[in-house]
Amino acid sequence: MGLDTYINTYGAACKARFGQKVKKLTIDAKFTCPNRDGTLGKGGCTFCNVSSFSHEAGTDLGISEQIAEGKLRQRDRQAKGLGNNKDAANDKYIAYFQAYTSTYDEFAVLKSRYDEAIKDEHIVGLAVGTRPDCVPDAVIDLLVDYQARGLEVWLELGLQTANDATLKRINRGHGFSEYAQTVTRARNAGLKVCGHLILGLPGESHQDYMQTLAKVLAVGVDGLKIHPLHIVEGSTMAKAWRSGKQELISLEEYAYSVGEMIRATPPQIIYHRVSAYAQRPMMLAPDWCSRRWDAMVAIEDNLRAYGGQGAALS
Ligand code: SF4
Repeated sequence: MGLDTYINTYGAACKARFGQKVKKLTIDAKFTCPNRDGTLGKGGCTFCNVSSFSHEAGTDLGISEQIAEGKLRQRDRQAKGLGNNKDAANDKYIAYFQAYTSTYDEFAVLKSRYDEAIKDEHIVGLAVGTRPDCVPDAVIDLLVDYQARGLEVWLELGLQTANDATLKRINRGHGFSEYAQTVTRARNAGLKVCGHLILGLPGESHQDYMQTLAKVLAVGVDGLKIHPLHIVEGSTMAKAWRSGKQELISLEEYAYSVGEMIRATPPQIIYHRVSAYAQRPMMLAPDWCSRRWDAMVAIEDNLRAYGGQGAALS
């Protein structure tokens, strides 16, 4: 059946717009992060090691070369039967500026890096991941301009939780109010916003996740991305986990909470992601996060049994 049966997915939304699958190509555009360089903080968020973001994090390749490599990788996957679009000339991709804080630089630098990505004929959209406190109006206007030119554009804002005490504990360097203000500015300008949430942060439980969702929905959002907390090598949390001080969310808890969140989400909101997996040895724990399909299967089972997106609202 697949998650599309129960959820308004990003994949289905892109297919509806473009008539075919549209894959994201992740790009490391060599930005940095104000929560690491001392501008806002040092050491970064306690769960973060940017080397774990994607294949491309830390690469020496330029943006055009990363796109070319990403396309080859996708075509390779298709050749192995993992995709269904066999005509490479018609492939369509979203350039996903994922690593670090992808709006954190001089305006001219940002523009030149986004422009380099969209000049590739197969790129039909941009997804720009960043922190809520790093999105000046000029950047919003720039992204709106790309959108007006026909590109599929998303501003992806890392919130992780709406609980300010947890945000402080994980050293995010911003609170919920910064997120709310940036979402409102971006959406008022006509830009689509995807909020990133993490389940399993220290001290949080199912009630916190539902409160976070309620606050995010109350502010307004166009898309959501949910991840389980996983411990990555080199992060501050890895030390806490190694000394037995960091409990982790189980697969059963995760599937239950994601299912409840999806059922409490209005149908028009697009789910970009409902789980994430990561490869060892970078990913240390929990073990189930190293298996690509475990969470997807458990979430689909939950949705089949108890109802899909918006079911709790009717
Ligand atoms: S998660 Fe994002 S904001 Fe936090 S330290 Fe890593 S790159 Fe910076």
